[in-house]
Amino acid sequence: MRPVSFGDRGKEVVDVQTRLRALDFHLGREGADGHFGPNTERAVRGFQQRRWLEVDGIVGENTWAELVEAGHQVGERLLYLRVPALRGDDVLQLQLMLNELGFDSGPVDGIFGEATESALLEFQRNAGVNLDGIVGEATLAQLRRIRMAGVGTSDKKIPDRMDGYVGSRSLSALTISIDPAHGGTDIGARGVGGLTEKYVNLRLAQQLADLLRAHGADVMLVRDDDRFIGLYERLERANSFQGDLHLTVHHGHHHTPAAHGAAAFFFENSSYFAEAGKRLAGYLIQALVRDAGRVDLHTHGRNFACLREPRRLAVMVEPGFITHPEEGGDLADGPGIRREAEALIAGIRSYLERL
Ligand SMILES: [Zn+2]
Repeated sequence: MRPVSFGDRGKEVVDVQTRLRALDFHLGREGADGHFGPNTERAVRGFQQRRWLEVDGIVGENTWAELVEAGHQVGERLLYLRVPALRGDDVLQLQLMLNELGFDSGPVDGIFGEATESALLEFQRNAGVNLDGIVGEATLAQLRRIRMAGVGTSDKKIPDRMDGYVGSRSLSALTISIDPAHGGTDIGARGVGGLTEKYVNLRLAQQLADLLRAHGADVMLVRDDDRFIGLYERLERANSFQGDLHLTVHHGHHHTPAAHGAAAFFFENSSYFAEAGKRLAGYLIQALVRDAGRVDLHTHGRNFACLREPRRLAVMVEPGFITHPEEGGDLADGPGIRREAEALIAGIRSYLERL
């Protein structure tokens, strides 16, 4: 879909406004009038903040998907395993309930996958309801009844998403998908001297791929040239490759040229975070600080699609700022990209060695 933002008018805006209002965000006097004004933007920002998304006030693919998912309440539809997987806040609530009762439904990510189904079947078996793997009225009533009775073992540790398992402890047998973000008509941010983010991301991903392959790793690039690919299509490509690790590459930008440094991101929502992702993100930052001289802008938990959708370990990195005169200039010339690639590989290696 086309991103919707401030100043836009039309049916898509009415749709966004209607969903925001249903979630109790106030649109002021504007109401759902199909005009994306300041109140709508404020509501979008509030929504993004609540959902652990990038707070930019723009309704792009990720924010739109979250708006749709946020509208699903438990009991409004049947929940079961299907392709593509059902996703939404109702699934998330189900996962929370199952985990709370001690049935391991895996990561609380709002995606009805195989782990959720096995936990559900296990619950149905125990609760003596029809063993069909479908959350309908009977199963829901049982879930609520047992929960009210306080039978749950809430101290049970929720297992980590993609438990951080990587097939190998060395780079030589690593399988990894790398996604250089943006591309084609989506240029990403603009940096010093007309430098574009889509270009720097691609150069870095290619450099990473070369170096990793030289170590014997199996690497898949989500894009290997300057083309536009939709967000969810990118993640389908990564999932069909089935690597141990999925790395999304962006670069930082800011209207203040002084902003610089490296940041890394792992999956987190209001009820869950990926421990393995957080650990790997930490190693990446450590290496970027030590080997590429970057300022530490820390690791952050986010509910980005690129962190949530991959079925295995996923992180996103912004290893430098393309708007900073030195950092950006260095990236434009090339040596900066090589340093970033080497640091990222050192970070991945630290993670593998400490598994
Ligand atoms: Zn970007």
